Amino acid sequence: MVFDSISNFTVTERFLKYVTIDTQSDPSSSAIPSTEKQKNLGKILVSELASLGIDDASLDEYGYVYATIPSNTQKANVPVICFCSHIDTAPDCSGNGVKPIIHKNYRGSDIILPDDETQIVRLTEHPDLKNQIVNDIITASGTTLLGADNKAGLAEIMDACYQLIAHPEIKHGAIKILFTPDEEIGRGVDKADIDKIGAYAAYTMDGESAGNLENETFSADGARLTINGVSAHPGFAKGKMESAIKIAGQIIAALPYELSPEGTEEKQGFVHPVAMEGHVETATIDFIIRDFDEDKLVHHANVIRQAAAGVLKGFPNSSFELQTKPQYRNMKSVLDKHPEIVEYGMEAIRRAGMEAKLCSIRGGTDGSRLSFMGLPCPNIFSGEHAFHSKQEWVSVQDMQKAVETILHLCAIWEEKS
Ligand SMILES: [Zn+2]
Repeated sequence: MVFDSISNFTVTERFLKYVTIDTQSDPSSSAIPSTEKQKNLGKILVSELASLGIDDASLDEYGYVYATIPSNTQKANVPVICFCSHIDTAPDCSGNGVKPIIHKNYRGSDIILPDDETQIVRLTEHPDLKNQIVNDIITASGTTLLGADNKAGLAEIMDACYQLIAHPEIKHGAIKILFTPDEEIGRGVDKADIDKIGAYAAYTMDGESAGNLENETFSADGARLTINGVSAHPGFAKGKMESAIKIAGQIIAALPYELSPEGTEEKQGFVHPVAMEGHVETATIDFIIRDFDEDKLVHHANVIRQAAAGVLKGFPNSSFELQTKPQYRNMKSVLDKHPEIVEYGMEAIRRAGMEAKLCSIRGGTDGSRLSFMGLPCPNIFSGEHAFHSKQEWVSVQDMQKAVETILHLCAIWEEKS
């Protein structure tokens, strides 16, 4: 099926509106949502959904938007599917006063951002731009991020809602919409009501290049190494003191480069010290441990243990212990039990005229947590690039492709049921 009738995309207009609303989240806040201003966009999304005739659209006290597009098919057994994007933008870069600029008919030259001419989006530094020749690129003006991560996803899902309602010839089951706050600070699904969503599968629209579908995330553990040294008065310490601070320094220096974030890529895992605190008597080092293969997390923890044991040979009266705790898991293990979820996603991308590419994410997503909460959830491209930076960009055409992908996906679930 080709949706010939769909030409009146509203995705760009929606996107340009959403990015001007500051929705930056704040990791130092314990409030839910972390910043109240995220609800300003939540309210707009709810009122736009309501104006499309979606009567159950709501914003809850935690900043989550829920909505349902009812089934329009005679088939009774079409699984409910959900589309999900996040409302917040990253704390790393200001999202206040975003001025989006459309650079029409991109020809490969440098894009100089007018409010800070040192900010230049260059083809050489953004290789995906080579796929955007003659497309219309949207950037910010040089002093803020753009917020395509993840307002491109919001705009795409909102336009898809509009298209589904405007085109009843596209048959689909019940479609659920979920917009979450605080994804960028790792709390995006803390208060998500899975029972209320009641879906069989979900798709986050939060990936990079057009055609990509991500079905793998890292598996992640946290670890804390505690070092017990021997303290003594520094004036009378000879032969006695075993400084936990110095032991900690040696252990960090002993970690292999081949297992570090700066020394790994693609499917390789790592151990990474993220914080330390030390006194002469005791010191702690906090690590994150990452790999696509969950079983290797144990091996990586042992690398820390071996480094510590090796260093401690020189400090006979000191000791250490390492405690690990699970953080999140590779969603592939859940998705592999329901292969049609990824298959239909890939098929939808192809039907929208792209080459479908299966990818993995060197990190976690809302989807990896949703998957383990009982809602299997791969990640589909939304076209966002150079996220969390002033050079962030997205193209109009990629956003339209993402809308088409959503529409095809809704139709495929109906067709295959
Ligand atoms: Zn995102």
